[in-house]
Amino acid sequence: MMDGAAERAIERIVIVGGGTAGWMAAAALSAHLSGTDVAITLVESSEIGTVGVGEATIPTIRRFYGALGMSDAEVMQACDATAKLGICFVDWLRDGHSFVHPFGRFGQDLKGIDFHHYWLKARAAGDRAQLGNYSLGSLLASEGHATLPAPDPGSQLGIFDWALHFDAALFAQHMRRFAEKMGVQRVDARITDVALRGADGFVEALTLDSGARIEGDLFIDCSGFRSLLLGEKLGVSYEDWSHWLLCDGALAVQSERAGLPPSCTTVTARTAGWQWRIPLRKREGNGLVFSSRFQSDDQAREELLAHLLGEPTMEPRKLRFTPGRRQVAWAKNCVALGLASGFLEPLESTSIALIETGIERLKSLFPDKDFDPTVIAEYNEQSAEEMERVRDFLVLHYKLNGRTGAFWQACRDMDVPDSLNAKLALWRARGAFVRYRWEMFSPASWLAIYAGFEDLPTRLDPAVAAVDNAQLTRSLETMRRSLRDTVADTPTHEEFLEIMDGAAAQGRAA
Ligand code: FAD
Repeated sequence: MMDGAAERAIERIVIVGGGTAGWMAAAALSAHLSGTDVAITLVESSEIGTVGVGEATIPTIRRFYGALGMSDAEVMQACDATAKLGICFVDWLRDGHSFVHPFGRFGQDLKGIDFHHYWLKARAAGDRAQLGNYSLGSLLASEGHATLPAPDPGSQLGIFDWALHFDAALFAQHMRRFAEKMGVQRVDARITDVALRGADGFVEALTLDSGARIEGDLFIDCSGFRSLLLGEKLGVSYEDWSHWLLCDGALAVQSERAGLPPSCTTVTARTAGWQWRIPLRKREGNGLVFSSRFQSDDQAREELLAHLLGEPTMEPRKLRFTPGRRQVAWAKNCVALGLASGFLEPLESTSIALIETGIERLKSLFPDKDFDPTVIAEYNEQSAEEMERVRDFLVLHYKLNGRTGAFWQACRDMDVPDSLNAKLALWRARGAFVRYRWEMFSPASWLAIYAGFEDLPTRLDPAVAAVDNAQLTRSLETMRRSLRDTVADTPTHEEFLEIMDGAAAQGRAA
């Protein structure tokens, strides 16, 4: 260690909140800092509770818990989890239309030219096969199958990825068990006051309803929508994006299982928003996300319940949010993660993924007691850009909708951010992708949405003109057949879950 660095090292981390964000941060930081003298305390209030939603993930979650030494099988069993191969969008373009946004790519590139140019050329020549026919992930999801990706798939056609649907409360408990084993101290109490240091306004200590005082060097605000430290105490303002993301309300309800669990999340367009269906092993999670400008709570409740496939097991729970983010995620000695740092909306399941990237960023820019402004500025810049990129991806879904109704018309009519306009313009002009820094979604995901909404470019890569149409038709048919054959040999989702149970039992026995 450099001279003097040891005295400036952070000794006490205090995490405020024990929802998904708080316990993920506690687990990851306790693993990262194991062997050091850093003490981690997490304060949560079982009286206040957690937001209680957040059950669909993207594949990065598997890397997150994998880095903590947890296997897929173990986490799936602990969290009532099923496999998620992608998201099935129903009725977003028009009634009766659907497509899958898979975690994976489409087709086989040829001669260094992206596959979609060949698909578009064949389409222009009258081939009606949907893009999803060239994606293993999409076909698995459509068939209700699931399998593990081959470690060495042999060709691009075999590349796909998967994530989980899980019970958010069980996942937080799983993270908690790990964190407590690693030495994290949990305090169950309500925070009644937050003291700032006179000299520089840094957070100094929390006061609890028991009267106890908890001091720290670094505070991590995972207090949910309230943003107790960053928002309320440090006064970091909120950037409101509701002119781009019109949904600001949700009703969440659990129901009994309705048939075999699909291997994808289903999101169905409704009157003034959309409805999710997330299949778990023992139950299903459902919800309606809607715009309160276009639908009342009562109408939303009625619409949600009318479309449930299984019997509801509770009264729907109301949630209100303002899409947007805190101006900065890190101010002074306080970093916010999860809802305390902002929230866009649940479409595309990005909130937990943003917690993961926030934790990774904090690990790689971990401060000392000097809290160098350069480090803080870098963290904030990366976080802001990443959130804006996710925002643009979500806005795209609304902008391209083809539905009737006042809400959907307003979404089509809205002016979108310039960064999204630039992407759309290049796609339409040339079938190419603009890539910014800190993108969470790859070009394959953007392609899935453009193609799913049938928003197609006017010009293709000129090099595809050299490919003979008859030869192209044969190549595409071979790809489709190869993928169909592969899917036919994979387990159903139900069989896959049994295989994972077997692996979990073996893991416990080992
Ligand atoms: P919370 O769960 O609200 O936890 C806050 C914690 O702070 C609690 O432990 C609480 O007790 C504590 N606390 C607050 N005030 C005090 C106090 N005064 N004293 C002591 N403790 C206090 N994300 C996804 O990735 N996928 C999804 O499918 C998804 N769906 C969603 C659907 C909806 C409708 C909504 C609103 C969100 C969804 N999210 C989803 C987001 C996801 O739920 C959150 O990102 C995730 O649950 C993290 O929440 P959190 O830990 O930040 O906050």
